Amino acid sequence: MVDAPDVVVVGAGAGGGAVAHALTAAGARVLLLEAGPRFDPVRDYPQTAPDWERRSFPAPPGSRGAVTFGDLGACDAADADLASWTAAQPRRAPPARREVTGEGYWHVQGWGGTTLHFIGEAHRMHPQAMRLRSVTGAGVDWPIGYDDLEPFYLQAETVLGVAGPAEAGDRWRSAPYPLPAHPLSPGARRLAEAGARLGLPWEANARAALSQPWDDRPGCIYCGQCGRGCPIGDKGSADVTFLRRAEVTGRLEARVNAPVLRLHPGAGGRIVALDHLDGDRVVRVETPVLVLAAGAVQTPRLLLLSAGPEAPGGVANGSGHVGRHFIETLSWLGTGLVPGLSGTHLGLPSDAICWGLNAPGSVPGLPGGCRFHAATQERGLNGPVAYGTRVVPGFGAGFKAALRAGFGTALSVGAMGEKLPDEVSRVDLDPEARDGMGLALPRITSVLGRQDIALLRFMAGEARRLLAEAGAVAMAEEGGSWDGFSATHVFGTCRMAARREDGVVGPDGRAFDHGNLWIADASVFPTGGGGESPSLTVQALALRTAAAILAG
Ligand SMILES: Cc1cc2nc3c(=O)[nH]c(=O)nc-3n(C[C@H](O)[C@H](O)[C@H](O)COP(=O)(O)OP(=O)(O)OC[C@H]3O[C@@H](n4cnc5c(N)ncnc54)[C@H](O)[C@@H]3O)c2cc1C
Ligand code: SF4
Repeated sequence: MVDAPDVVVVGAGAGGGAVAHALTAAGARVLLLEAGPRFDPVRDYPQTAPDWERRSFPAPPGSRGAVTFGDLGACDAADADLASWTAAQPRRAPPARREVTGEGYWHVQGWGGTTLHFIGEAHRMHPQAMRLRSVTGAGVDWPIGYDDLEPFYLQAETVLGVAGPAEAGDRWRSAPYPLPAHPLSPGARRLAEAGARLGLPWEANARAALSQPWDDRPGCIYCGQCGRGCPIGDKGSADVTFLRRAEVTGRLEARVNAPVLRLHPGAGGRIVALDHLDGDRVVRVETPVLVLAAGAVQTPRLLLLSAGPEAPGGVANGSGHVGRHFIETLSWLGTGLVPGLSGTHLGLPSDAICWGLNAPGSVPGLPGGCRFHAATQERGLNGPVAYGTRVVPGFGAGFKAALRAGFGTALSVGAMGEKLPDEVSRVDLDPEARDGMGLALPRITSVLGRQDIALLRFMAGEARRLLAEAGAVAMAEEGGSWDGFSATHVFGTCRMAARREDGVVGPDGRAFDHGNLWIADASVFPTGGGGESPSLTVQALALRTAAAILAG
């Protein structure tokens, strides 16, 4: 129990975990308030149970925050080549408007946040992606550069135990990855060979999954279940890395199932206190310093919910930017059947990646870049049930024979690309829907522009080309962001900027309007990058913010 904390942190995910680690390591007493529960790997991630394939990431009580959706944009029939389909279901006419599909926005409430569910890709941003406007004239620049983040990237990679390739590529490093890269799975090897023939170089993906024991955690056993929760704790989720380290200092008080309801600004713009729930009781906590790390949807919601006489438009919203500039990642996924190839169901999810088109301007005629990755496990095609129900038509003896013959030949390529920020996409408060406390739910509005559609089409084309070169004779399923919102990576709603009029926080994460309020989560990203997964950058930024807090 921490008496009179030096800092209160809201949210125990990627950003909150990293901040809590850095602050407690430096001697600060931290109170960490987390809306959701603790997960227990033995109880919650039973990957050896016979029904493992039927389980998705678990949802114990209180572990999912409700959101609503506003406009997700129209689907122009002229772009119907981008409609999602699977072999098992007849192609349907694309919807007139984009719909919420799959997991929609399903970020986790819990001790570890969405990193409990994440795959564990651990990417640095492309240095030029942080200068998107300067390089291409589109989007905005970050107010900091890659050099400002490099030492914090290294710290985060060391805590996580990132396994990555020896070559640095476009992302310079001051030291090698802590651990050697994982071996490539059979499917990834086939993609790398095909990519080499097409002039699209592939490499081992940088993964927050241990290729050797590290920091009292065991090496990966290649069960392929990262997205269902890692049963052995080698995946670099925040609970077993940053938060575990923070707890052993004895300077962290953790309160789980403790959603924060509102912030109280006081005289001089300082945040003096906040309210959180404890069962059905509302508890008020005084705070000298407050760090918000509730994610790109809940952080702006909390700021907007805290509107009052001291902050009429919402806390930290003097410039009107809270909730605006919501960015999802453009995604595409294609699966082909490759006769003669076997074992595509084996190995570490997302073990190989192609960065060849990731730098801004590297896709002809478009500002933002994209990347491609091996995605058979990530797509869930590493089990016979998914393969049988999605890829193999029919029933009876013929079905069985086709399942036996084909399982292990499905090869998936995923692609992610830069979606440009726009004036429409945002998170605001739903005017009608309320949670159990009567508080407005966050509402996500997210539309795609013509350049976003053009990049999606490019990604789909390259994925098809790669699969054909890898030997795919037929496609089994395809789909992406064109007709469905299912965003795993979200950013932008408390944008970091050099000037107050352009954003919510300054370059070190401190709110322009409140001297003792800091934001350390994905909401501060000015742009989303050319397909990089965000958590490592969230953590590097959070470590940098913690250093600024400690410096006073
Ligand atoms: C299926 C999936 C796969 C992904 N794969 C990858 C990947 O491979 N690599 C990668 O880098 N990223 C991946 N991501 C994205 C990544 O998980 C997120 O970008 C990252 O976790 C964001 O960090 P954050 O700190 O902003 O938010 P989170 O990690 O979501 O943490 C926010 C925390 O705040 C808590 N919170 C919210 N509201 C309140 C409140 N009012 N009071 C108290 N607590 C609150 C939440 O419960 C949560 O624990 C994936 C995401 C998904 C869904
Ligand atoms: S593949 Fe490795 S990192 Fe992923 S869940 Fe299994 S053991 Fe954990």
